[in-house]
Amino acid sequence: MNIELSKKLLDQLIKLSGSVSDKLDRQITLMEVCGTHTTAISKSGLRGLLSPYMELLSGPGCPVCVTDQTDIDRMLAFARLPGVVIASFGDMIRVPGTHASLEVERARGARIEICYSPHEALSYAVQHIDKEIVFLGVGFETTAPAVALSVMEAKALGIINYSVLSVHKLVPPAMKVLLADPELNVDGFILPGHVSVITGRKVFDFIASEYGIPAVIAGFEPIDIMEAISLLLKQIVDKKAETINGYTRLVSEEGNIRAKNAIEEVFEPEDASWRGFGLIPESGLVFKKAYAGFDAAARFPVEVPYASPPEGCSCGEVLKGKIKPDQCPLFSIVCTPADPTGPCMVSSEGACAAYFNYGDE
Ligand code: SF4
Repeated sequence: MNIELSKKLLDQLIKLSGSVSDKLDRQITLMEVCGTHTTAISKSGLRGLLSPYMELLSGPGCPVCVTDQTDIDRMLAFARLPGVVIASFGDMIRVPGTHASLEVERARGARIEICYSPHEALSYAVQHIDKEIVFLGVGFETTAPAVALSVMEAKALGIINYSVLSVHKLVPPAMKVLLADPELNVDGFILPGHVSVITGRKVFDFIASEYGIPAVIAGFEPIDIMEAISLLLKQIVDKKAETINGYTRLVSEEGNIRAKNAIEEVFEPEDASWRGFGLIPESGLVFKKAYAGFDAAARFPVEVPYASPPEGCSCGEVLKGKIKPDQCPLFSIVCTPADPTGPCMVSSEGACAAYFNYGDE
């Protein structure tokens, strides 16, 4: 990163924020939808530097954090099945379910393998044909294509001991729920770069065209985020609303067609339950009939009672931008990264973890 350029941009951004805030005679509120942005904003100190003029709220952009409590409990039930090996991204391991976490289940004897990709989980299945490998499909549009490709490869190779618990989520339907909330008080959105690489810019047009709120797709360097905020401020002061692609080096209008085709080959949208949001229409991905043999939920039909979030945990309110993490009464007192009550404190993209690790200033 060019330090001089960053400093110059930061000075300009602080001045611009001040003048827009003066003009509006109030603080500006922006929401960063993506958990990686939340962490980058906290880590770089941007949140604190802009705070006299601007509040930067976190949104529902951490896939681990939005995973419903009942789905976490289902993962734990799978981990307890004899002969089953759970393959998962590392972020899920310490997320608390109702009575345990995968880490606790592993200490009790469950086989949990940390994988960096679904392909790695599939390779593990090939090497352990006497075991059933269940990959935990947690993620947004960014993760789903690689999972779909692993399933297509498993089918092509005739591998029958690999399956996926699909709790994938789609970002645009959740944005629609947020935007329809009469309590939402946001002047603009910083949209997720990674998700947009797959979906393309056009899919987010509705934010500006239907709801009249400016939105900018941003990359993940502080300089990208500062540029996105500048573009939002200019729209706010000009009373304009457009969905702008601020990450053109990787995001196109239509997105990654090959990745979208892979998703469409294996999955179809279905209503899904999000932590804090409840059931959101067409916001999840379930297996199409042709790939039903790879659906872990169908292959291992465990009974899991409906589970509420942990007592006192406000992850749902944090994910909807209604409170800041440090407004949760459990923040840093009962709930810490070492002993998390909710997923927002344990996921690397969680807003509570970002506030705990880097502060809100
Ligand atoms: S501080 Fe802990 S309990 Fe409170 S919202 Fe965050 S993760 Fe949930």
